[in-house]
Amino acid sequence: MEWLAAGLGTGLVAAGLSARYNWWRRSLPGLPVLMYHHITDQLNGTNLAKLRVSPRRFARQLDFLLDHGYVALPLSRALAQMQAGNRTRTVAITFDDGYQDFYQEAWPLLQERGMTATVFLVTGALDDLNRWDWDKGEPPEGILSREQVRELDLLGVEFGGHTHRHKNLSQLDERGLLLEVTGCQKAISDILGRPARVFSYPYGLVNQKALEAVHRAGFSYACTTWPGKFQAETNPLMVPRIIVKRSDDLLDFRLKLGRARSRF
Ligand SMILES: [Zn+2]
Repeated sequence: MEWLAAGLGTGLVAAGLSARYNWWRRSLPGLPVLMYHHITDQLNGTNLAKLRVSPRRFARQLDFLLDHGYVALPLSRALAQMQAGNRTRTVAITFDDGYQDFYQEAWPLLQERGMTATVFLVTGALDDLNRWDWDKGEPPEGILSREQVRELDLLGVEFGGHTHRHKNLSQLDERGLLLEVTGCQKAISDILGRPARVFSYPYGLVNQKALEAVHRAGFSYACTTWPGKFQAETNPLMVPRIIVKRSDDLLDFRLKLGRARSRF
């Protein structure tokens, strides 16, 4: 009966893996736009540990991309290429909020591999802290300085807007949208000497009015947190992304690149 037990064991393991990973989902066409927040081992008492990917895992994910022939481009270039019908194996790596750990942890790992990324800035928090998160009980975290933004811009990192004070745009009136969206664009233009092309909606939340405000402020593309890949016919102001979480192992990462999700 040993062979039966062994067979049953293998079956159970397969069933377990099938339950955890949705490997049977069809691979989606289009550009994978990866979404990260923190690259750090410091949890600092956060309630959102899932948004803190360890530098070791991040490095392995970058190596996976390189080993599989992916070229990491600034988001606006990767999206424009996809709209033009270019089918090269491209990935865009994005970071929301502009934390100090992008400069300390993520950038060195990207740079030593010849890769680049796009960082969405909360312009009112530059040279300061993540004050918008404190009433949710999140720990204080350093935000990039203007000086670091200028330095990284010269090294090929793309910067985009993520509002002025990390507001939920779907709750704002026209005046609020002007402050948060146009104000953010103006602040980035002042730092870099040119407007930003890309935007990311805080909390992934947007309505028609907010979408129009983002377009009017001169952003060509805007990202949601909706899972999926970008195709030539996707609305450029509703770019889907693939969230990479702290708990994702390399199999999750591989599945997400293909299917935008790895588990249910
Ligand atoms: Zn954010």
